[in-house]
Amino acid sequence: MNRIFCFLSAFLLSSLSSYAQVAFNTCFNGKQLRMDFALCGNAVGQSAALMQLREEPVWGGPRENLIDPFEYGGYLLKAYDQASGKLVYSRGFNTLFEEWRTTEQAKTETQAWVNSIVMPFPHRSATVVLLAQNRSTNNRDTLMTLNIDPSSIFIERSRLKEHPVMDIRIAGEPAGKVDLAFVAEGYTASEKDKFFADAKRFTDALFAVPPYDLHREDFNVRAVFLESEESGTDFSGRGIFKNTALNAGFYTFGTDRYLTTPDMKSIRDAVWNIPCDAVFVLVNSEVYGGGGMYNFYAIGTADNERTIQVFVHEFGHSFAGLADEYFSSETSYSDFYNLNFEPWEPNITTLVDFDKKWKDMLPPGTPVPTPLEAPYSDKLGVFEGGGYLAKGIYRPMDHCMMRDLKSFCPVCSKAIERMIDYLSDRKIR
Ligand SMILES: [Zn+2]
Repeated sequence: MNRIFCFLSAFLLSSLSSYAQVAFNTCFNGKQLRMDFALCGNAVGQSAALMQLREEPVWGGPRENLIDPFEYGGYLLKAYDQASGKLVYSRGFNTLFEEWRTTEQAKTETQAWVNSIVMPFPHRSATVVLLAQNRSTNNRDTLMTLNIDPSSIFIERSRLKEHPVMDIRIAGEPAGKVDLAFVAEGYTASEKDKFFADAKRFTDALFAVPPYDLHREDFNVRAVFLESEESGTDFSGRGIFKNTALNAGFYTFGTDRYLTTPDMKSIRDAVWNIPCDAVFVLVNSEVYGGGGMYNFYAIGTADNERTIQVFVHEFGHSFAGLADEYFSSETSYSDFYNLNFEPWEPNITTLVDFDKKWKDMLPPGTPVPTPLEAPYSDKLGVFEGGGYLAKGIYRPMDHCMMRDLKSFCPVCSKAIERMIDYLSDRKIR
């Protein structure tokens, strides 16, 4: 009986799997469609405008898990096949622009930022819709609708500059693996070997940290060398500016240790010809700092004594959509989370809809919220303080990589493993 059941399950699974593969082949051709677009707006509202569509040689993402089960991020891309009207692809993401919209500056200025997102290239006509979460209603508003004719002469199909790429580890075909790319920033031509050595050191360090230590074989890792004219990075608050490939710098939104680049287009230009599910921009500096936005990029420095913890923390943001679990810290955000709604990040809650979060993981009898005292203080609970606020937002454990660079809490670990499942085209745990 069990054997028959196993056989039937295996048969059903393989049928479902080949069905998904057929679905992929029906709509997509294995190449990548890249959309560069501007986001323009301020604290009150935003709009989007297309800048360029590009055909790129390799789609490295899932071919079976085509519909995003998480929908993390302030933005959501949805693609519909025009012949059938069916949703054939979706993926959530965040942008640095969305963070900027929560700063004081956005209350008095309107700005436009360049963004870029990729999806599998459709070989028949598709409608692509870009949606953005409205901070005051929590609904998703449509920012842009595009009709994609795959044979259009308006799709850019040129090759771009081919940068030196080192395969740090290749575990298998891109569709079945997480394809991580380290991209160099602030390394001169004579520092190429240092960059490849730094990327190798970061790779080894990532796979020493739970839960990544159990998932080495789920990752392909490559390092892309971009040559910068000058070594290092910008410190605008100290009057230091360097001519570098990706124009990264500290003092993002005025915060000295917040390191980012506004130049998403140049990042996508760097990885145009390799499979890429996740980007880490490795900055040639010894100063403490970094940043990370979900399904956008993460960034950090190579040579600070806490460099590896910062890398793993920032990659937690960009790879698994994890929120910061710290609070009462210096940030330039005002009203980053609306306490009337449940935030999309898996590891914080406003208790508005806690059933969707880690309620099923709590030890029996755990009070909600959970007092930070024995016997609960070192266990999984619902502790007040997180997401930059001491009141009204709750975190799963007192300590975590997303708060104070300790080990990931069980909720963050599970979110990371679910993301690995999704991007590896497996059933999601
Ligand atoms: Zn955590």
